[in-house]
Amino acid sequence: MTVALETRNLVKRFGGFTATNDVSLTIESGARHALIGPNGAGKTTLINLLTGVLKPTSGQVIVDGEDITGLSSHRRVRRGIARTFQINQLFSGFTPLESVLLAINERDGFGRSAWRPLAAHLNATGEAVDLLERFGLSGVMGEKTGRIAYGKQRLLEIALAFASRPRVLLLDEPAAGVAEEERSEVLAIVRSLPAEVTVVLIEHDMDLVFSFADRISVLVAGAVMVEGTVGEIAADPRVKAVYLGE
Ligand code: ADP
Repeated sequence: MTVALETRNLVKRFGGFTATNDVSLTIESGARHALIGPNGAGKTTLINLLTGVLKPTSGQVIVDGEDITGLSSHRRVRRGIARTFQINQLFSGFTPLESVLLAINERDGFGRSAWRPLAAHLNATGEAVDLLERFGLSGVMGEKTGRIAYGKQRLLEIALAFASRPRVLLLDEPAAGVAEEERSEVLAIVRSLPAEVTVVLIEHDMDLVFSFADRISVLVAGAVMVEGTVGEIAADPRVKAVYLGE
């Protein structure tokens, strides 16, 4: 077994409040791992610790055997750990094609204003078109992102993270807010991500978790209450109690 992502005794305190309480996770290469838990359980804090948005009070984050705890978010992306980010005002004025091209240029070390040599630019465009196709965005690639269907915007968020060629992809509630008729497309595309990419899914929707994940960690009050296969988690009375108690 190769480990893609590991946390060792990760702790994050905000003042006297412990948001992440001694979290040790081991996520295998190629895994489909879900992090679930009720509101306030510490899912967002944990993701921010993994991506480097927050620094832990103590403990380590390890990717492919290397301690990356001290690295900035930017450097972590270069080490192959990427997360979906919300389409913001900036992106909504661009088309999906332009947005993906910007993400590819960023990955390749060209700033937003830098010109690429033409041959490289054509390669990047070809790659962008392929990527848009994989994420079901071919039909809307020339429209303003702010005007395309919400489900497509969520798919673009994943496409932008995917453009960095991550080894570990953190998906933050990919189907949240997506209309019922668009959900199955989002699900199908998320499920068709390449097997070699390790995917960590942060999700509230249990149907999605159970249809996607192979292992699940349940966070409660900042700590991992239980971890196991989908079957084990589905049958665990403690998990039921946490969710029924919400
Ligand atoms: P989840 O994503 O599972 O809903 P969060 O990670 O957002 O949970 O929050 C976990 C707990 O940490 C919550 O009680 C929240 O109020 C607290 N928290 C998160 N960020 C901060 C912060 N910057 N300062 C103080 N408390 C915070």
